[in-house]
Amino acid sequence: MDGTFNENDISRVIEADRANVWHHLIQHQPFFTGADPKIIVEGKGIKVWDQKGIEHIDAVSGGVWTVNVGYGRETIGDAVRDAIVKMNFFGGTTGSIPGALFAEKLLTKMPGMDRVYYCNSGSEANEKAFKMVRQIAHKKYGGKKHKILYRDRDYHGTTIACLSAGGQDERNAQYGPYTPGFVRVPHCLEYRKHEQDGAPEQNYGEWAADQIEAIILREGPDTVGALCLEPVTAGGGVIEAPDGYWPRVAEICEKYDILLHIDEVVCGVGRTGEWFGYQHYGIKPDFVTMAKGVASGYAAIACMVTTNDVFDMFKDDTSDNMNYFRDISTFGGCTAGPAAAIENMRIIEDEDLLGNTVAMGDYMLDQLRALQDRHAVIGQVRGKGLFLGAELVKDRDSREPADEKMVQAVVGNCMKQAVIIGATNRSLPGRNNTLCFSPALIATTDNIDHIVGAVDTALTDVFG
Ligand code: PMP
Repeated sequence: MDGTFNENDISRVIEADRANVWHHLIQHQPFFTGADPKIIVEGKGIKVWDQKGIEHIDAVSGGVWTVNVGYGRETIGDAVRDAIVKMNFFGGTTGSIPGALFAEKLLTKMPGMDRVYYCNSGSEANEKAFKMVRQIAHKKYGGKKHKILYRDRDYHGTTIACLSAGGQDERNAQYGPYTPGFVRVPHCLEYRKHEQDGAPEQNYGEWAADQIEAIILREGPDTVGALCLEPVTAGGGVIEAPDGYWPRVAEICEKYDILLHIDEVVCGVGRTGEWFGYQHYGIKPDFVTMAKGVASGYAAIACMVTTNDVFDMFKDDTSDNMNYFRDISTFGGCTAGPAAAIENMRIIEDEDLLGNTVAMGDYMLDQLRALQDRHAVIGQVRGKGLFLGAELVKDRDSREPADEKMVQAVVGNCMKQAVIIGATNRSLPGRNNTLCFSPALIATTDNIDHIVGAVDTALTDVFG
């Protein structure tokens, strides 16, 4: 691929960008004075090209775990075009053809789930579930059972309520006061259990879940309405809960009549090798929220999916017919999202991308473990499907986290090699020491060798 942008055009774009755009997640002072911003101008498959025509391998699916089916999918473009030219938008109480058909298709992948509520972003989908929990508390429990538990290191979005449910403190700092009624439970990262008082040698998974029960008892079970968890924690460190965790979580929710909200914003739609991350663990959620992979970033769409048990609570209220879910999302009425999502799902099915995710995830895990044999700085490699992390430490015995700047240097070094990888979010000091890998679900062994080779070089350059 050549750099199709003429030199003058692109410098004009860079100027416009520098002068007008407030970028996400960046301190602008060095950005203004440093090198030109990177502008991605084209993508195909797992590759993207920047303004200079440099080809990159994207090991993080659009930076934030989103482009599950890869770039340049013409059939998704066609589906979106057809939908929006015929009927792009009608909001409020009405339905749409793509909206009805995608909901039907999605629910075939989610046995036990019955209703799809459309909105725009992962944060918004989570807010919908939080609002439902609060409304159920009002309907059934006189407002009392309103608290929502969330887990240390998990992330649920950027709004004030989502930050109030956020287990990554640096993202939250400076945005208080927070929404009341959100209560934190401990993380379940076994590799860091030495930092948790009382964590046992054996049966850590059960112990970590038991900490949730202890908090429910402390708060009063009649005040706790829901527990919100990521199936595999993403930005907080690529954390899969240890054996024994999920069955105890399910028991606890059942015992105390607590609704289970699973945030699949990252894991959903194939990332971990099942349609949804929770499906690995045999649990039955009451709410499932999803966004990024639903349409692989071809259109903005998020969904909050729930059961008929929940739906019926909102429908059978004959005493006061104003007690329906009094919520709207303007762009939940766009047809581009569900049209893209239908085609996205067809691609995953027809190309067996779940199968590829399992096979390539195993392959990548092996390659990263081989890298761990060569680089003492890799303390642990972990993850599920094509959603993997490598935690970097100063010392394998003490497990002291690697210095944040060194971790960023590895990411920067890979970028110079035209391989885009990620690192966990800055949270409390010592928590953004995990390299993240989430290539598109179409990744091949060649792609993975290329990515892991770049990380190998970067680790040698940075740590020796
Ligand atoms: N939940 C999780 C697990 C996420 O990782 C994110 C975003 N990274 C969100 C929710 C929020 O999604 P959005 O940015 O679309 O609001």
